[in-house]
Order: sequence, then structure tokens, then C-alpha cells
Amino acid sequence: GKHHLSKIEDYLWEIPKSFHKNMLVPARVLAHEPILDDIIGDRSLVQLVNVASLPGIQGASWVMPDVHEGYGFPIGGVAATSHPDGAISPGGIGYDINCGVRLLTSTIMLEEVKDKIEALSKEMYAQIPSGMGKGGFLHLTHKEMEDVLSLGAKWAIDKGYGNIKDLAFIENNGHLPDADPSKVSERAKSRGLDQLGTIGSGNHFVEVDYVDEIYEPEVAEAFGLKKGQLVVLIHTGSRGLGHQIATDHIKIMMTAMEKYGIRVPDRELTCVPFSSLEGQNYYKAMCAAANYAWANRQVITWEARKAWANIFGKDHGQLKLMYDVAHNMAKLETHNVDGKPHALIVHRKGATRAFGPGFSELPESYNLLGQPVIIPGSMGTSSYILIGTSKSHDLTFGSCCHGAGRRLSRTASKKQVNAPQLKEQLKERGIYVQAGSFKGIAEEAPIAYKDVNLVVETVSDAGIAKKVAKLRPVAVVKG
Ligand code: 5GP
Ligand code: MN
Ligand code: MN
Repeated sequence: GKHHLSKIEDYLWEIPKSFHKNMLVPARVLAHEPILDDIIGDRSLVQLVNVASLPGIQGASWVMPDVHEGYGFPIGGVAATSHPDGAISPGGIGYDINCGVRLLTSTIMLEEVKDKIEALSKEMYAQIPSGMGKGGFLHLTHKEMEDVLSLGAKWAIDKGYGNIKDLAFIENNGHLPDADPSKVSERAKSRGLDQLGTIGSGNHFVEVDYVDEIYEPEVAEAFGLKKGQLVVLIHTGSRGLGHQIATDHIKIMMTAMEKYGIRVPDRELTCVPFSSLEGQNYYKAMCAAANYAWANRQVITWEARKAWANIFGKDHGQLKLMYDVAHNMAKLETHNVDGKPHALIVHRKGATRAFGPGFSELPESYNLLGQPVIIPGSMGTSSYILIGTSKSHDLTFGSCCHGAGRRLSRTASKKQVNAPQLKEQLKERGIYVQAGSFKGIAEEAPIAYKDVNLVVETVSDAGIAKKVAKLRPVAVVKG
């Protein structure tokens, strides 16, 4: 409960190592106080403490202010283990490997096209396949699947789904070279054959927003953001393929764990040493799923550009990629631990990288500024663009929150929300929602999520990211 938390700063709480004998590091919560009330109702704090016992964990077990309960690890969690012998745990990455968000900027102002937004929402819905288990227009051969898993976003661009210039604006340029398709089961591959270019269910979306407010004019200019302008947000991951990879490797690790003498307080924390055979096999499969997810968001970008051109004409077909950031991934990175550089496996589950300035992987035009951080709120509230800072490297292994985070379970939300009514209310506010089912809308209602303003205030007060712009939705395609 809340009384186990001691306050370090207005935005920072700790459960000390002494709380439980299994803890190897303290557990830390980044949250302004009112947010705590939203999280004590679920198991996320227990999970946070459990993660502090992960073999090889360094610094602290962290959760961001969008924290909520997940599989083993809380969503909104960051756990860095020692490379190469510390643990890698699929639960610390999530079933939707490389779920992430990208933002496209346009040359159109909301004011100019207010009367076309409803048509745009319908065209987006028509061009972008959505819904659980839903396939798309691509049917990959097995050879093509191998290439997608090895090449990532570049595969899609080579096939004509995008511009080569897009690559520079994707985390890792949309490609993890450690991917090995031979570590991906046939079952996983076959689940992925028809799903490239599809958003999937529920929480995933393609959304048109307008820029409502600019906080950092110079950074906004570098990112290509202007007040009043329309932008597109795309949120999805590796679909059935990633889910199957997680399922397969969790099963293998459950048996292998014993061999390595690893005991964890919750079987959902299943893990093996990163350097072990099983650890390497999972990691290489995880990288392959990450590549698939980047190819997926790239094909969806092509679909969104097509819908855009169909409504606004070819001259306005150029949606430019601002950035694509992953929020379910383990990354090999070096950060300071006790003042010394330390090679780490940084698990981010429902957390995004938030690197500060001077990081060479970033596009040249962002390099002196920092990494864009994209924080979606909900279909009826604001979303935010932030920028990573050097303080994120000191505090949270270069990480930040990934959304507002759930405060109600899907079931609880469905009970409270009248979806047809909500859809009408949103429409009256100028937000056109297109979804496959009312159930989806009810589960994803704005009240299901925390107050995104307070979540963003927390990370900005903590100094791990700075607000650049606030967005407001006008058209939402939901899975
Ligand atoms: P997750 O990756 O955990 O499923 O979702 C990330 C975040 O997206 C959620 O925490 C929530 O704040 C946000 N979100 C969910 N649905 C929508 C939506 O329809 N539009 C926007 N802008 N954000 C959403
Ligand atoms: Mn996802
Ligand atoms: Mn996600």
C-alpha cells in the first residue's frame, strides 16, 4: 500500500531495499501524489517490488507515472540488469514486442479543412485494417517473412511503402541487427504472414490530432510542429507474431530457469541469464519481432498517406515522419551506475527511451536537442510531444513514460461507459471515432485512463523530459 512509500521529492517515492529480503535494489515510483491513488488499487506496487529481485538488477526498479498492473512486471516499468550475465525477462518487455508510436507531420492546418475531418476519419478507417486478428492486403511468402524479420522498416521501404528518408526518423533506424529469424517459431511466423500493415485491437489506433499548444518553440520548429497543424499518430506493435514469440520463449524459460538456479517471487517474472543459450535465443527473436513491428508501422504509414492523399489531394500527400519510438523493448545500453559507466540490458515495458542531446543515432536535425518522446493520452483528451533530457540518463536509464496509463480495467470501463453515447459526445466536440465495435470504444474511453496532464507534469518536474507540444484529437481509428 501507499504507506510503504517514502517521499523523496514531490514527484519521487521509494520503497527501500530493507522492505523485503528478496530485494536487490530499492523500488522507485515517479508520480505526483494524486496519481498514487490510481495505482494502489491494483498489483503494480507489489510487481514493482518483485522486479527489484530480478537477478543482476542495477540501480533501482522503476515505474513511471503511467504505471499499472501487467504480466509479471508493471506496465510503465524500467528495469536495467547487468550485461551480459544479468537476467533477460520477456515479462519486462511485454507480449506486444516493440509496441510503439510514431508521429507524422502534415502541411495542413485544422482551420482549412474542418469540414473534411469526418470524411478523413472514414477514409483512414477504410484504408487501415483494424480489429483483433485482422489481416491486411499483404500476404507474405515465407522468404519475405525472413526478410521482414531481418531488415525491419527498410524491407517495407524497399517494397515501395515509404521514403528512404523515413528511416533516419525511427529509433534504431527501424532495424535491430541482432535479429535472427531462425529463433522465431513457424507458428509465430505464420501468425505474422497476413498482419503487416494492420493495427490490431483495442488500445491500438491511428489518430489525427492538431497541435494545440507549443511550449518549446525552437524544438517544435526542429520537429516540424506548428500551432494549429494536423498531425497523425500511429500506435501498434508486432501483432500476433510478437505475442507468439513471447509465449514460446516464456514457456522455454519456465523450464530453463531451474537449471540456472533462478528463483523469482512470481512465475510471471520468468527469466534466464542474458548470456545463456535461452537468453540469447529469446533476445534474437525479440529483435526479429521488433523489426516486424517497425515494418508494420511503416506499411501503416503508407496506408495513412494514401488516405490523406485521397481526401486532400496529391499535393498534400506528404506526411513527414517526425519520429517513431518503441515502448516495449529490451535494449543494450551503457548508463552510469554508482557514478561509473555500466553495460546494461534496459527493459522498458510501457516506457519509452528518452535520450538527451548529443546522441549520434538521432537524426542530425535533432542531435543537439534530444530524442522526441511521444505520449498519447486517450481518444478524448490531449496527447503530448516531449523531448528527452540528459537528466533522464542520471535518473531513469534514459527512459520516460509511454502514455497516460490505465486506471480502470477493461471490464470496469465497459461497465461504466455507454459507448454509443460517448461516440456522439465526442463527435459534438469535433472528435470523429471510427471503431470496429462499441465494446472497443467502451474499453478505451477517456475515463479508463489517468489524467495525462498530471502524468506529463510529473516527468517534466522530475526533469527526465521537457514538454514540446500538446495535441488534441479530431479523428480516431480504433482497433
Ligand atoms: P499501451 O501501449 O499501454 O496500450 O497504450 C499507451 C497509451 O496510449 C495508454 O496508456 C493511453 O494513455 C494511450 N491511448 C490509448 N488509447 C488512445 C487513443 O485512442 N488515443 C490516444 N491519443 N491515446 C490513447
Ligand atoms: Mn501494443
Ligand atoms: Mn503500446
